[in-house]
Amino acid sequence: MGTFKAMVIEKTESGTKAALADFDEANLMDGDVTVAVEYSTVNYKDGLAITGKAPVVRRFPMIAGVDFAGTVESSNSPNWKPGDKVVLNGWGTGETHLGAYAEKSRVKGDWLVKLPASISTRDAMAIGTAGYTAMLAVMALQRNGLTPERGPIAVTGAAGGVGSVAVAILSKLGFTVHAVTGRPEEGDYLKSLGATEIVERKDLSGPVKPLAKERWAGGIDSVGSTMLANLLSMTKYGGTVAACGLAAGMDLPSSVAPFILRGVCLSGIDSVMCPIELRRVAWKRLETDLDRPKLAAMTREIGLSGLPEAAAAIVAGQVRGRIVVKIR
Ligand code: NDP
Repeated sequence: MGTFKAMVIEKTESGTKAALADFDEANLMDGDVTVAVEYSTVNYKDGLAITGKAPVVRRFPMIAGVDFAGTVESSNSPNWKPGDKVVLNGWGTGETHLGAYAEKSRVKGDWLVKLPASISTRDAMAIGTAGYTAMLAVMALQRNGLTPERGPIAVTGAAGGVGSVAVAILSKLGFTVHAVTGRPEEGDYLKSLGATEIVERKDLSGPVKPLAKERWAGGIDSVGSTMLANLLSMTKYGGTVAACGLAAGMDLPSSVAPFILRGVCLSGIDSVMCPIELRRVAWKRLETDLDRPKLAAMTREIGLSGLPEAAAAIVAGQVRGRIVVKIR
């Protein structure tokens, strides 16, 4: 056993502090599979954990990072053997279980998903929890019967991680996608991912009416608060909105009007404790439903030392698309 580099969060008198440190392998937590981590990524929650802006971390010291892709190094689980390529999203890693920004991670074999053959460990983390959540949201819309013929779909927080992947997947599936963004300068980028119309954030930031003019057959919302409330009030009869984020806040200043007068469905998306069967379906679908050139165009790469800057940027809503973190 030796040490390896990790982004470690410690508790301090004034809050928390994140820094690169040498972590002793002997201090890894219990688990039946040890993974050599190759790539991780920067999700909004990682930004909150590293900056200490929200109490995401519930055990100290913590290795930050809620997701990783890598190769099984050793296993006592009957389901995994050394050399298997795996991806992990959530289950409390980076929050209650030592996380992904480290050269090694020891986890429960039940938490792992086998990577589809054509998805590399780097691509898996270009997708990351943000992209897998976008896939879960698209699956929720489809489960509720949304098809391209029903009308356009609005994606809020479109230039962010969940939003960018959602735009690309929906467009690949033939949906008309309207990208809602506070960064109109990213209009060309969003169109290159498949959006046909750019909607300004302010159109969904005003006072919320119980019912507004019907605009979209459905939506994928990573913003929450007034934005989600306005989206619900603008959703067409029988439509579905998948809610997966809170970039603008946790509140929902809405009314029951869209639900009881237009039969609108609000579908909640959780990636962290999502059942393993659904994860396997989502990762399988990501192999076919997301254009790899579009994924490459929305992704940039950093190393562990770039994490503090990336964390501050994502919390400030300044990151475009996805960031992969090369671990080794
Ligand atoms: P990003 O920061 O990459 O994207 C969020 C986007 O939301 C921003 O790029 C911006 O888009 C928009 N935004 C930010 N602040 C505001 C604001 N104050 N008002 C309106 N819009 C705003 O984060 P991610 O895509 O990684 O995550 C998005 C959200 O989804 C987060 O809240 C995250 O916690 C949540 N999430 C939830 C998961 C789940 O399991 N439910 C899993 C993964 C993420 P633009 O500039 O285009 O307007």
